[in-house]
Amino acid sequence: KITIPEKVAYIINRLIEHGYEAYAVGGCVRDTVLGRVPEDWDITTSARPEDVKKLFVRTIDTGILHGTVTVMLEKEGFEVTTYRIDGEYEDNRHPKTVEFTSNLKEDLRRRDFTINAMAYNEKDGLVDCFGGMEDIKRKRITCVGDPNDRFDEDALRILRAVRFAGQLGFSIEENTRIAMKQKAENLKSISAERIRVELDKLLRSNHAELMKEAYETNITKAVLPEFDIMMQTEQNNPHHIYSVGEHVVQSVCAMNEWCYKNGQHDKKLHSILVWTMLLHDVGKPECKKTDYDGIDHFYGHEEVGAKKAKEILKRLKFDNYTIDFVTRLIKWHDYRIDAKEKTVRRALSKLGTDLIPYWFWVQRMDIFAQNPDKAKEKIERLELVEECCEKIFEQNDCLTIKELKINGKDLMDAGLERGKQIGEALNYLLEVVLEHPEMNEKEKLLAVCKRKYMLIP
Ligand code: ATP
Ligand code: MG
Repeated sequence: KITIPEKVAYIINRLIEHGYEAYAVGGCVRDTVLGRVPEDWDITTSARPEDVKKLFVRTIDTGILHGTVTVMLEKEGFEVTTYRIDGEYEDNRHPKTVEFTSNLKEDLRRRDFTINAMAYNEKDGLVDCFGGMEDIKRKRITCVGDPNDRFDEDALRILRAVRFAGQLGFSIEENTRIAMKQKAENLKSISAERIRVELDKLLRSNHAELMKEAYETNITKAVLPEFDIMMQTEQNNPHHIYSVGEHVVQSVCAMNEWCYKNGQHDKKLHSILVWTMLLHDVGKPECKKTDYDGIDHFYGHEEVGAKKAKEILKRLKFDNYTIDFVTRLIKWHDYRIDAKEKTVRRALSKLGTDLIPYWFWVQRMDIFAQNPDKAKEKIERLELVEECCEKIFEQNDCLTIKELKINGKDLMDAGLERGKQIGEALNYLLEVVLEHPEMNEKEKLLAVCKRKYMLIP
């Protein structure tokens, strides 16, 4: 038995009362059947957009040309879309034309997978023309109709298949999978934004290890070839027992578990963390050197990786905040330090405190996903640094120029030249304070400064 929220039922019933057909459709029906909480409720109806608009007080023209009107109830919006048949596809993306229809089955036929092609209302119950329930029972992703045709119409569906498999823990039906592999190259013509959204959902899902399935089906070859190179780079090294690709995928999965366990549910941050793990070793392939003993080394890969990651994230049209955060985490992910206060203060100052909690998470996941036999000792060392770090935060030690008990104006008043010399002096004083936190007092810092610049004997 499916229960739909009051507001959704209200919209559907109001449409029905006025002689139209209306159903909840797609992801929300699938998720409810599976006992998952749907992200949003979509409604499909035989009413034309102009008729929908007449029945509700507040509506927004979300995509009138494609038949979509958003009905606003209090502060909540619900997309109501007219039954339609998608015309020929222009560019693997947009249907050239959409044609409205009065037949629900036609509308369901245009949808990507059988599990996404079910409709429900209280009057008629579940409408399942393409075997969606059967596939839910078998935990299987199957295209509606001929998969080859469906992927020709819109290649994004190829990536969506793996994404849904990852979110739901489903397998992919054999013919659907064969077609995916054959058509994956068409993903190259799909916009970066659409690719990013699906990849991101896959990486944050319960089965991020399906990135390897995306690799096997030629998907990453089309949308993230850097990942293929990682999959193909072995690392013969006491710290690692997996290829670079396997290792980064394991680290993504570990990060997901960690975020889940720690109640880290902010989508954007979660996304930053999984992309960091996926790309943290992306510099390794080009930095790999095998020594005379057959052992692989990867000197300088962090810097190279940070640069590469930046290129990739830019290409996928990520926002600047994400790009900056991920690249910084990658740059420092292998920066191992001793648990000495002075050392840790320096590191905190250099990395920036906004990075620190996540810097520890990234290191931890990296270690988890390396050689399990060697993890314990490394984690212990990391935890010592973490404790030391907490102590420094508790002490409120000065870590930035801003926190110095002296500023540029004080230095000018003391006789330093405006401009370059001031900046230099502040940097120098920060060095002093990082070494000796008790020096962070105005008089003491002035004295240090005067001595250094020989303003007064
Ligand atoms: P999510 O939980 O991620 O929102 P969803 O199934 O609701 O999953 P949406 O992208 O919100 O996915 O799309 C809503 C519905 O529209 C889908 O369930 C499917 O029926 C249809 N749909 C979406 N994208 C496509 C597509 N590229 N090709 C065919 N049908 C699609
Ligand atoms: Mg949805």
